[in-house]
Amino acid sequence: MKRIALFAIGWSVVLPRETQEEDMARVFQILQWLGQEKLFDPTRNGYYVEVEVGSEMFNRLAAIAFDKNLPELRRIVDLRRIEHRYSHEELLSAPLLILYANNMSIGDDYYDEQEPLGGPYTSHRHCPACRGNVEQVRDLLVNTRRMSKRGISFTYKREIILAPWLVQMIQEAGFTGFGVRPVWHFTRPYVGDPPLYQLVPTHTLPPIASPPTRFTNVKHCSVCGRTTLYLDYSREWDGFTYLEDEPVYYSSREALSDAKDFNRTFELFGEPHIAEPMVLISPRVYQWLREQKVKSWSVEAVHLVEEAQRQEG
Ligand SMILES: [Zn+2]
Repeated sequence: MKRIALFAIGWSVVLPRETQEEDMARVFQILQWLGQEKLFDPTRNGYYVEVEVGSEMFNRLAAIAFDKNLPELRRIVDLRRIEHRYSHEELLSAPLLILYANNMSIGDDYYDEQEPLGGPYTSHRHCPACRGNVEQVRDLLVNTRRMSKRGISFTYKREIILAPWLVQMIQEAGFTGFGVRPVWHFTRPYVGDPPLYQLVPTHTLPPIASPPTRFTNVKHCSVCGRTTLYLDYSREWDGFTYLEDEPVYYSSREALSDAKDFNRTFELFGEPHIAEPMVLISPRVYQWLREQKVKSWSVEAVHLVEEAQRQEG
């Protein structure tokens, strides 16, 4: 895994002209350090650069971004976040992979969009207290035209929507841990063959190991009994705060011995009224999606506490 820092470098166009020119010269100098001075354009006041944490360039930029004594330099260098990036080999050898949506063009269920706080026509039964989606009570009704020719798309609730040809391929591949249910065009429900399908992971994993995984904004609803939370991305360094990807840990390989090819987390992520589990796939599904050249998704590896302890010891 590589830790890649994203810095925003630039000058503010609302500051006095002279200050802007000083800052512009500093920005040029920083791009020069990075060997990227060709990027510089006096009409463009903002740049994103990526450097690996621990590299000489990272140390230089972090020294500016986190220097309390240099406010005039700090205003031109801002550490936006640190991302964790994995090689193909690391993803293939991970115990499981969190599946992320890169495409939500399908939107949400038509009636859920009309009634975001719940109502008689929504796709889920809601908790009367926290408004959370307690149970899906009917097939999803979407605007299927938004799918276009895609194989996969995700609703805002992270429901996985598939084209029929991709469902057939997934079923033929023999993967485990999921069911499919029809998805209909909202003006033509329950007529003929379903134009799309929803892939529903049926296997729930054991709880994530926390610590070391850090959660924030943990809320419990005493009416439906659901707990909702977020991964905690906030970090502090010498009085400065920044954001970094938060790794997800499971206690041991043993704890994941029942894992299927498709799984859902025990935890529900997000605000109570929209919280949903994350979907985790096996490296086998990851490899297969790549081979089939299916687009619009990305993955992140999960970790094992026992391996982290071994590396420390
Ligand atoms: Zn509730």
